[in-house]
Amino acid sequence: MSDAPARLAEVRLAIARAEADALRPAGSVTLVAVSKTFGPEAIEPVLAAGQRVFGENRVQEAQGKWPDLKAAYPDVELHLIGPLQSNKAKEAVALFDVIHTVDRPSVAQALAKEIARQGRAPRLLVQVNTGEEAQKAGVAPQEADAFIAACRDDYGLAIDGLMCIPPFEQSPGPHFALLAKIAARNGLSLLSMGMSSDFETAIEVGATHVRVGSAIFGTR
Ligand SMILES: *Cc1c(COP(=O)(O)O)cnc(C)c1O
Repeated sequence: MSDAPARLAEVRLAIARAEADALRPAGSVTLVAVSKTFGPEAIEPVLAAGQRVFGENRVQEAQGKWPDLKAAYPDVELHLIGPLQSNKAKEAVALFDVIHTVDRPSVAQALAKEIARQGRAPRLLVQVNTGEEAQKAGVAPQEADAFIAACRDDYGLAIDGLMCIPPFEQSPGPHFALLAKIAARNGLSLLSMGMSSDFETAIEVGATHVRVGSAIFGTR
């Protein structure tokens, strides 16, 4: 027996409460259920419980498990939330509906090429390294405006929003607020921010997509 459906219901309830507390419309936040490291047997009960939006952080892992699940549940929406290498752009464009981690010119260029070649256009978000951590992916906050403009003007990519992963040891609120500010001044409507431990804070600050893994699937 899987505990995931019950935990999924709790997360959905918490999202609805946070939407109401922030005076935001019910249903304005999309729950991305992060299924990385979990196999089809763990994902199946969550699909059966009605969840259709899922996040994976590795292209290759997602390629291994999602084609069969997508055949069984054709309305699944798959989000890439982990770092993307240009040499995986082809597979990423073929499999994912939303890519949250556009963060450098080589990746933008590879995505533009594959989108044109495959005639398939995933929605794209730019990852911003709000904490300016050396080991973390994402464009620096002060380089975000120029990179977003380059995606549009140099590569012809439609960018719909921004994503961030705040530093583990810091309070996330200011990072979410910074991401919202950069999105607002660039006219971007999607904000992917908030994970199991902080999605309610993210919703307060305007998240449109929260990426929740362990609170649904259990510890990895
Ligand atoms: C794993 C992961 C998540 C989910 O983290 P939890 O703490 O398990 O909710 C969210 N975003 C990204 C980018 C991740 O890699």
